[in-house]
Amino acid sequence: MYDVAVIGGGINGCSVAYELTNAKKSVAVFDMNGIASGGSGAAGAFISPKFSKAGELKELIHEAFVYSMDFYEKNFPHLLSKAPLLHIAQDEEDSQILRLYKQNSLLTLQTSSEELLQTLIPHAKNQENICLQAGVVNAQAMCEAMTKGADFIKQKVQSLIYDDGMWIINDEYSAKHVVLATGAYEILIQEPYIKLRGVWGHRIDIKTSTQNPYSIHQFVSISPSKEGVLAIGATHNVHYHPQKNSLTYDIEEGRAELLEKASRTLHLEGIEILKDYTGLRSGSFDYIPLVGSLVLSSETLACGNKKIKTPDYAQYLYYPNLSMINGSGGYGFVLAPYLAKMLRDEILSGTKINEKLAPARFFARWAKKL
Ligand SMILES: Cc1cc2nc3c(=O)[nH]c(=O)nc-3n(C[C@H](O)[C@H](O)[C@H](O)COP(=O)(O)OP(=O)(O)OC[C@H]3O[C@@H](n4cnc5c(N)ncnc54)[C@H](O)[C@@H]3O)c2cc1C
Repeated sequence: MYDVAVIGGGINGCSVAYELTNAKKSVAVFDMNGIASGGSGAAGAFISPKFSKAGELKELIHEAFVYSMDFYEKNFPHLLSKAPLLHIAQDEEDSQILRLYKQNSLLTLQTSSEELLQTLIPHAKNQENICLQAGVVNAQAMCEAMTKGADFIKQKVQSLIYDDGMWIINDEYSAKHVVLATGAYEILIQEPYIKLRGVWGHRIDIKTSTQNPYSIHQFVSISPSKEGVLAIGATHNVHYHPQKNSLTYDIEEGRAELLEKASRTLHLEGIEILKDYTGLRSGSFDYIPLVGSLVLSSETLACGNKKIKTPDYAQYLYYPNLSMINGSGGYGFVLAPYLAKMLRDEILSGTKINEKLAPARFFARWAKKL
């Protein structure tokens, strides 16, 4: 029997496995297709803050950005490439946001090299932009490195049964605690208040003679070049879903779109496509991630109105020894180390996670509407 079974080998599941194995717990990571085979394997894995107007999400991502840069640098320096991040406004609305961000920034901003901009991205000179120190991680290698101390079980989890104080997984394995980190692919525990949306993304690694020292975000994300190779990626396809669409995704069309959008920013020469990566990223309906225990909706409702009228989450009934970590949107690699640490503390010491992240908030909203 394992102390913890983590279902899903993306950056969320792997970060939780890392924290728990470091705390000397026995951990099994289940993934139906392999480590980083979902959204995480497709990610450009830029570690960047969120440039937006003030708000809870911006603050959360800011804290996670500062924490995660430090975390990756300390624990996996060989898998983190530090590079200046150049965010160029797409339009006037974006420019306004960047101007506001500059006025209130808690991070040290840099001045992008005029000479470099002139030769590499001449139009950026006339566009509002922000430059600051950030990083990119090697997505696949990072997830693999984080799960070194855990057992990896390549299996689709289809059955989860709680019996006699433990979770039985696929009638074969058992664990004291289960962490659901299944991204946009499955929820496994069917509760009417848990809804996630999957957004399809595509990344290409290309060989090019263009030397780019920046991580650039504008119409798409472009990584700095490393030995003549750079990555271009975006999660912009809200219409395609591999489990819901009857047609398969058109890789050629996706590539052409990425290259066209990248070339609006950067002049790319001598392009050779090396590899395509595709995957779904999952987001919640209020854009804030879901971290913590899951409410047993029927049982809580059966206890009567009192429990749901005043949303005191402590009054709800929860699945025993079961947690979720999901809904990180386009910031999974920024958020995962920060959220995994919170989840570890909740699982091991009962330290409460900030209620703003609790999946229970969706139960409260759903139950109120009933
Ligand atoms: C093209 C693209 C670019 C992106 N760029 C960035 C970026 O630059 N920076 C950033 O921070 N984020 C980026 N993201 C977002 C980031 O990738 C996601 O937020 C992150 O991958 C979410 O991780 P996850 O672990 O929740 O989900 P996933 O990585 O999707 O992992 C879930 C895993 O669960 C497994 N699974 C599901 N159900 C079962 C089951 N029943 N049994 C067994 N296994 C199961 C799946 O196989 C999958 O591997 C990008 C995403 C995409 C697609």
